[in-house]
Amino acid sequence: MDRTVYLPRLSDHAGAVAAAMRAYGIQAEVLPPPNAETIAVGLALCRGRECLPCLLCVGDIVCHVRRPGYDPSQGVYFLPGGPGPCRLPQYRVLLREILERMGLGAVEVVAPSSEDGYALFGERPRATRMLAAGALAGVDVLQKALHELRPYELDRGRTDSVYRRSLEQLLEAVERDRTAGLVAAMARAAREFEAVPVDRRRRRPLVAVLGEVFVLLNLFANDDLVRKVEATGGEVLAGTFSDVLDMTETNNVHEQWNQSLYLDLLGAELSRRYQIMVLRRAYRPFARLLTHPLEEPLRRVYERLRPHYDPELGGEAVLAMSRAIEAAGHGASGIVNVMPFSCVAGLMAAGMAPRLRAALDGIPWLDISYGGQESTNVGTRLEAFMHQVVQFQRRRRPAPVAAGSSP
Ligand code: SF4
Repeated sequence: MDRTVYLPRLSDHAGAVAAAMRAYGIQAEVLPPPNAETIAVGLALCRGRECLPCLLCVGDIVCHVRRPGYDPSQGVYFLPGGPGPCRLPQYRVLLREILERMGLGAVEVVAPSSEDGYALFGERPRATRMLAAGALAGVDVLQKALHELRPYELDRGRTDSVYRRSLEQLLEAVERDRTAGLVAAMARAAREFEAVPVDRRRRRPLVAVLGEVFVLLNLFANDDLVRKVEATGGEVLAGTFSDVLDMTETNNVHEQWNQSLYLDLLGAELSRRYQIMVLRRAYRPFARLLTHPLEEPLRRVYERLRPHYDPELGGEAVLAMSRAIEAAGHGASGIVNVMPFSCVAGLMAAGMAPRLRAALDGIPWLDISYGGQESTNVGTRLEAFMHQVVQFQRRRRPAPVAAGSSP
């Protein structure tokens, strides 16, 4: 309790976890966003076969501990892990080895994993975890509002500034008043987003951006892909962090059932339902404003994936494919599957794309892989893809007309 927990800045969601920790007396701070220097450090220290999230997290943490005058006994670094066909659990092992090599073995790393439901710590770990889940859902909903309104705003930059202000107010409220603060902050944010002048009479083609959670949410890693899709004429429906928690709890329920651990099963099922409840609660004040429905619980969506791929195989590929099917049902005219270079989960989803496309009326599908090196052809591929998306939207049905414009 007397040390500071530092969280790598996956995205604005890291601030939500830090705010929940502070609300329960844990000193928590989010590291600065990754940049060219941190990735260069990550590349220099890792072996070269690691995925992009590993390079960035290692780079961010090592740059932080190398600051002049840093006292290694003062901080703890937060690096989540998880099982499955993924290198995530190895990050902590690798980071520890690198720190020892640098003579910084005293630096502590904590790695909550999906196997323990990402349990947090401190004096009230369960309450901290529950508040963090609510705050993460809040950030997801703010980002939904940002993505749905920004392409139609009449005052350039207004939606971004409302998003930034709402995020700040949300994090302050969570830290100060916990759940009560969270609920009040979401209601206030909905009112502020409603006041953004937009013209949604002619809807742009909807593009679902899905895939591996780190590159999906990290603006540096994905080179601000959502804005790029918007710049080429699309509107984005993006995957969320809450999805990862829903996936984790759904998998845990399945595991406990397989092992006949009925008491643990009950706990996992309650956590899963809680996760769904907090997302719905965060979304409620926005229900009048947002036209895309909230994602269904994954367990239900998995049934639509089952004819093509067994969802019990788990991992983020299952998540991306399930949400792709759901998004197509909600009117998406294109799917972008993002992945770090050589990511197993991303490659599995990419491998299944022809089969899923065939089942989804030939919906355009674009796989983009990010390796941390500048890529020159994403813009060109995106433009070609958006051309197909527009054709697909025209072929399938007339562009949907929104409920109206505001204010
Ligand atoms: S899902 Fe892929 S990119 Fe993400 S940690 Fe696992 S292997 Fe790496």
